[in-house]
Parts: sequence; C-alpha cells; structure tokens
Amino acid sequence: MNNNIYSVFDKILGRKEKELFLGQGGCVLWFTGLSGAGKTTIACCVERELASRGILTQVLDGDNIRSGLNKNLHFDLESRMENIRRIAEVSKLFVNCGVVTLNCFISPERDMRKMARDIIGENDFFEIYVDASLEMCEIRDIKGLYRKARAGEIPNFTGIHQEYEEPENPAIHLRTDIESLESCVKTVVDIVVPKIKAVL
Ligand code: ADP
Repeated sequence: MNNNIYSVFDKILGRKEKELFLGQGGCVLWFTGLSGAGKTTIACCVERELASRGILTQVLDGDNIRSGLNKNLHFDLESRMENIRRIAEVSKLFVNCGVVTLNCFISPERDMRKMARDIIGENDFFEIYVDASLEMCEIRDIKGLYRKARAGEIPNFTGIHQEYEEPENPAIHLRTDIESLESCVKTVVDIVVPKIKAVL
C-alpha cells in the first residue's frame, strides 16, 4: 500500500454531478457465458438500442482489453483473476462517470465474478448469464477456437479443459439456443433502461 497517495476525491467532480450532466445512471452489465454463447453479439445490439435512447455506453471485451491494458496477462488462473480485477476497476471508473459499461468476458468462475461484483458494488452490477449449451457453442464455433482446443492447440479452454460455473442467481438469464437475438436484446433493454433512467 502506498501511503504517499495524495487524495483528490474531495476535489474532483462527483458521480452524481456527472450522472445529472449525462441524464443517466452508471452501471455495469456483466455478460458471462461460454465462448460463442452470444455475449458480444447481444452487448453490441444492446449498446445500439441504448444509444438510440440517448444513453452513453462503453463495451469492454477481449479485443480492447487484452490488446492494451491487459496484454501482459496470460490464461492461467492467476492471470485470469488479475484480468477480471483490472476490468472491474476500469468499469468502476466508467460507472463513476455515469457511463453504462457492457462487459463481455467468459469469466468462468463464481469467485472471479464475485470479486468483480465486490469491486464494482452490488447496486451497480448486473450479472447477465448468456446461456447456450457447449454443444451449440461448438457447432457455432465462429472463431474456430473449439476446433483448436479439441486439437490441443489451446490449453485451459473453458468448457473443454476447464469447467464453466453457471451463475446461481443472475439478474438476467438469456437462453440463446432457444431465444432469438431480438428477444434477448429486448429482455435486457426492458430491464436495464428503467434502472439507468431512475437516477433522474
Ligand atoms: P461470445 O461473445 O459469447 O463469445 P459471440 O457473440 O462472438 O459470442 O458469438 C455468438 C454467435 O451466436 C454469433 O455468431 C451469433 O450470431 C450467434 N447467435 C445465434 N443466436 C443468438 C442469440 N439468440 N443471441 C446471441 N447470439 C446468437
């Protein structure tokens, strides 16, 4: 712990002022599920729906996080925890700016999602379980990752070498193997928009 940090929390603009400025409340929509379950597809559509209602958002996913902030991390358990810890801390900064943050990470373990929830805070954390069977995700295999994992080219792949621990009590549970994309997006939008606007 660095004791030489000079606190500026009492000087910078507060969250409430920023939320009133934006006309929205910040929160984190935490999409969790197997690779290929539909996290990014749904989050991108939700983002567009929110934008059409004047709501400012930021999507965080492997693309923008693993290529920058977390490019020094690997996929062993310790690195995966650190990956999620940093993502949660960054999300908290966005939330403090009133921005709705849509996070798309497999985040396979209950412990790591609990850590994220604890960092972000219970009231601002919405766990969204994007649920499709392993069989369905493997049939989709849109990034070819399951084929590579089965061929032994990717170690520690969730669903094949490592268990995905299902959320016990998610805020929203989407079944992308039986529900349409439009229906999944509508479910999320109908639940989160009133909460985002409730700040006013
Ligand atoms: P993830 O981000 O979870 O790894 P992606 O969003 O990249 O998954 O891929 C999910 C794939 O499943 C896409 O090709 C998408 O078109 C397809 N898909 C089929 N039905 C749905 C649905 N109901 N919701 C989301 N994606 C779906």
